[in-house]
Formats: sequence, C-alpha cells, structure tokens
Amino acid sequence: MPRIVLVTGGAQNIGAAITMRFGQAGDTVICADLNPPQDDSLRFIATDVSSESSVQALMEQVTSEFGHLDVLVNNAGISIEASIADTALEDWDRVMAVNVRSTFLLTKYALPLMQNNEAKDPAIVNISSIEGLGANPLHSAYAASKAAVAAFTHNTALEYGAYGIRCNAIAPGWINTPFNDQLLAQYPNRDAVDRAIKALHPVGRLGTPADVAETAFWLASPASGFISGQEIIVDGGRLARLPLPAL
Ligand code: NAD
Repeated sequence: MPRIVLVTGGAQNIGAAITMRFGQAGDTVICADLNPPQDDSLRFIATDVSSESSVQALMEQVTSEFGHLDVLVNNAGISIEASIADTALEDWDRVMAVNVRSTFLLTKYALPLMQNNEAKDPAIVNISSIEGLGANPLHSAYAASKAAVAAFTHNTALEYGAYGIRCNAIAPGWINTPFNDQLLAQYPNRDAVDRAIKALHPVGRLGTPADVAETAFWLASPASGFISGQEIIVDGGRLARLPLPAL
C-alpha cells in the first residue's frame, strides 16, 4: 500500500530530495510549500506553514482527498544572519514562526489524521540542525529555533507514542545547497575554501540533500521502529571532532 506522506518546504533542495525519496518508494507525496515544486508528480498544496489558518486549510484538503496521513516531514525552515544586537524583533519572530510554530501547528493538525485507523506505522520527522547543538556566528535566532524543534520532538514522541506514532528529528550539518554555495562564493580562492570545509568532516566530503532524504526515509519506515524521541545527527562526523589549538 502506498503511504500518504506530507513534506513541508518540499519544493526545493533538501525538501525536494525528501519528496523524491518517498516518491521512488511508490508513496503518494504531498508538497506543502509557498512555491510549487518542479516535480509535477507531487500533490502540491500551497501553504504558509507559519499560519494557523493555512495549516488548517491544508489538513482539511488532505482529509478530503486522502482521509489519513502516514508520514509528516516538517522540513520548511528559514535563517537570518545578524548579531544579537542587530536582530530586529520581527525577524526573530519570523524565524521562530516558520521554524518552530510551524512544527507545532503541522503536528497538532496532523495528529488526528495520523491517529486514524487507516494510518500505517505513523511517523513524524522534524528537520532541526547541528546549529541547535553548537553555534555558528550571527545565527542566534536560527540556532534557538532548531534547539526548540529538537525539544518539541521529545514531547511529541512522549505524548503520542501510546498511539503508535513515532517522532524523531534529523540535525543536518553542512549540506551542499545553493544557500551554502552563495556563502562560499564570497571567497576569492574557492578551491582553498572547499578543501578547508571538507577537512572539517571526518568523512572527507560535504553532505548532500540525498543524505538527509535517506535518513528521513529510514526514520519514517518500520526499519527504525524502536527509535523515537531522538535527534539523529547527519553531519559526516563533524561534531565528533574536538577542536585542538593550532600549535
Ligand atoms: P531552502 O531554503 O532551499 O528550502 C526551504 C523550503 O521551505 C523552500 O521551498 C521554501 O519555499 C519553503 N518555505 C520557506 N518558508 C515557508 C513557509 N512559511 N511556508 C511554507 N514553505 C516555506 O532550505 P534547505 O537548505 O533545503 O533546508 C531545508 C531544511 O533543512 C530547513 O529546515 C533548514 O533549516 C534545514 N537545514 C539545512 C541545512 C543546509 O545546509 N542547507 C543544514 C541544516 C539544516
């Protein structure tokens, strides 16, 4: 039986890789995003994940078309770059709304669909970040939002485990996406920067959207049936390296 899978922010990059992975397995994939995906095999439902009325409308649509939901992947997220002193309150609130409020709203309104008898091995996967575990400069709002997503994951697992619903988070490290490309492009010696960044990773390479997608697929499958309430770090071993002084 194909599963019904809802992926937020599924229009591009990591979210698109996640939709593709479930699609390859024959699942029916719904993409909830502000923008339509390129893949027209997806059921696109235009959604602002930070808005309660928009999320309610999304779930009403899912209910009328599919009746239940097997998998929810809360992937949509945004970031800003500013020092704490320079972070405007509206920008802080926007990051919290798109990254944290959305995870709460999607979970809250998906739960009845996942508690439906038709739902098979229901699972929720939240995309957090290693920035919730260690700091990059000028990312305080983003870091706080991703730590909140990890904490919310624990509560979801605890409160809904009795209904057979598992919930886990994935904390990706450096994933090769256009966003990071833009950052690297600022440096004149791009080859040297590439080498230095790869050297941070014990596996000797940067992450790809497919690395995150494979983990999301596994966390949503019965193969990970005894795993719940966890944050799985997908960072090529980067956080495992303790810094040493340059002597
Ligand atoms: P991206 O910016 O390429 O894609 C995000 C998607 O979310 C877009 O399709 C966008 O339209 C959608 N979106 C944004 N705001 C929305 C809203 N209000 N309502 C609905 N959709 C909305 O991001 P990405 O690099 O693919 O990252 C995906 C997730 O992975 C994010 O949660 C991000 O924080 C996390 N992450 C990314 C990296 C990385 O290196 N790229 C590392 C760690 C964690």
